[in-house]
Amino acid sequence: MQFNSLGLDDRLMKGIRSVGYETLTPIQDKTIPISIEGRDVLGLAQTGTGKTAAFAIPMLEKLSVGYNGKIRALVVAPTRELADQIHQNISQLSSSMKTKSITLYGGVSKNPQDDRLAKGVDIAVACPGRLLDHIRESTIDLSGVDILVLDEADTMCDMGFLPDIREIIKHLPKNRQTLFFAATMPKDIRNLAKDILNDPTEVQIGIIAPAKTVSHSLYPVTEKLKSGLFFQLIESTATGQVIVFTRTKHRTKKLFADLEKRKYRAAALQGNMSQNRRTQSIEGFRKGKFDFLVATDIASRGIDIPDISHVINYDMPNTVDAYIHRIGRTGRAETLGQAITITTPDDESMIRKIEQVLKSPIDRKKVDNFDYGNQSGSADRKRSSNNKNRNNPFRYRRKTSDQKRKQYSSEHSKDNKSQAR
Ligand code: AMP
Repeated sequence: MQFNSLGLDDRLMKGIRSVGYETLTPIQDKTIPISIEGRDVLGLAQTGTGKTAAFAIPMLEKLSVGYNGKIRALVVAPTRELADQIHQNISQLSSSMKTKSITLYGGVSKNPQDDRLAKGVDIAVACPGRLLDHIRESTIDLSGVDILVLDEADTMCDMGFLPDIREIIKHLPKNRQTLFFAATMPKDIRNLAKDILNDPTEVQIGIIAPAKTVSHSLYPVTEKLKSGLFFQLIESTATGQVIVFTRTKHRTKKLFADLEKRKYRAAALQGNMSQNRRTQSIEGFRKGKFDFLVATDIASRGIDIPDISHVINYDMPNTVDAYIHRIGRTGRAETLGQAITITTPDDESMIRKIEQVLKSPIDRKKVDNFDYGNQSGSADRKRSSNNKNRNNPFRYRRKTSDQKRKQYSSEHSKDNKSQAR
């Protein structure tokens, strides 16, 4: 379906054209027409499906008439980065409209938010904690909300925000439209949806499975040799932009410092950083100022940065879900991506679980010219594809960032073509 067949407000259509959308994505096709009718929606969809516009467009259509100076649309999202991203998308789509939108999250001063709220806004995109602060201090008036969006409700639940969400909902008018999005539907989330949605239309886009455009590989090594192997690996691999996930904030900090020491263009993203620095990292990475983003799982959900060539799990994630979310940062929009996991012998049971979900074994590889010492066992598993690795097109000698990028782009387009055949 084409956007121009929906009969949307002209100013909104102008915004849609300005971002270059013509055809609705499957989730938009299924949700936008029913949301415009005012129905509640329960959408099961991963990020990267066009989910943001799926709720932003009907929301802006509703807001295109009847400005009353009060907040009429409230979007609640789990992380500040996701709130920023939603806010940016809404701002682009509404660039020809008069609607005013604000982000409300912690880690930045509350006073400017109070001032802007006092002046009047139409849309608030908020994280639960700071939103509750505003509610408790009566600096926000939610009595005019007629559309509520909960985005990544399952992530909010994982992060322990469920009681906060229930508290926030108590402060909203009962007579409203609710659009509820989650990538997975555990019991808590299903119960929440049942409690707050009114006869919703349930829409599911695809099953929650890893993108087929991602190829997976494992690099077994001992914990002691991990850092050395990581650097040898990135030295010998032609990469575009890379996200490296670690298990803890401390490990993110340490690996980032090591990358900087070796003059890589890198940024870090972890929860102990100030919001300003978090924004600088993500925006710098998005704009190509950095080749590497070292992050905790804070960056594994919802963030849409196209063209990430590699996700490297420096540490194995704790759950299969986390693995799928992390690798979902690459292989987006039909481009090819590589998911590399550096594993230690302790990770074997998690590897088996991931292989079960992928329904195929993952290649075990070795880094050429890396001194594994006399370590044996896991690195030499039967399925080791040492020979394959020798033919690995990504096996290159040290290159500058620019050379590596060019190399990656050329290989990347070749691979995309061969995938299309
Ligand atoms: P999301 O799932 O909301 O993170 O969206 C993923 C990407 O798809 C974003 O870069 C959007 O700008 C883009 N996108 C969303 N809807 C459309 C559409 N109808 N046509 C083309 N691109 C879209």
